Amino acid sequence: MFESLRNIDVFFRDDDADNDIPQLRRLLHLFASRQTPLSLAVIPGTLQPAAAHMLARLPLSFELHQHGWMHANHEREGRKCEFGPARTFAEQFRDIEQGRNRLRDMLGSGRVAPVFTPPWNRCTGDTARALLDLQFNVLSKDRSAAVGMPEMSIAVDLFTWKQGATLKPLTQLATEIETCAKANAGPVGILLHHKVMLEDAFATTATLLDALGPVARFHTLEAACQRNRN
Ligand SMILES: [Zn+2]
Repeated sequence: MFESLRNIDVFFRDDDADNDIPQLRRLLHLFASRQTPLSLAVIPGTLQPAAAHMLARLPLSFELHQHGWMHANHEREGRKCEFGPARTFAEQFRDIEQGRNRLRDMLGSGRVAPVFTPPWNRCTGDTARALLDLQFNVLSKDRSAAVGMPEMSIAVDLFTWKQGATLKPLTQLATEIETCAKANAGPVGILLHHKVMLEDAFATTATLLDALGPVARFHTLEAACQRNRN
């Protein structure tokens, strides 16, 4: 599938971890059995104790990081955002700080990477200022305009989200990954959402992992960002 690629840098990000559910377990097993790193975006405000217990004990190839605060939309109109233009710097700072503290308490401070992903993959310059004040190193969102801090953003989403989540065909995903890799725009970030993954999505992810294996170097988000800077 990826015969024309060589030594490309890739990371996988899975969003919305907060509950110990079978899809999350299945995804963790898929990556653990291939010894492939996976960055897990954890929702601090809704993280359940049983899930925290399980996540905190994962091998270090699973990078745990902060996904917003409550995954709540605060925009009255337009696209959904938890950290969008409707929020002041002070409101954003407070939400990020309490999320950071709760994740550290529940997962252990040494287990949480200084990485932040905003729900719906969008945020503002105020978000970046608050993150830098709170000693975050990496922001991961969509590939829209930069907001003023080191970024390792997503290039390929397994799903389209027009009316609920629809799995993209494998051929489309392969083309998107190939196009992104050939554009030399840094590591290729692939986004998963375990809560909407059914049999076909797990099969597609397994096929991508196995096809990328011979041609890709897999990283966590933080490692991919460091690599990109050097
Ligand atoms: Zn999310």
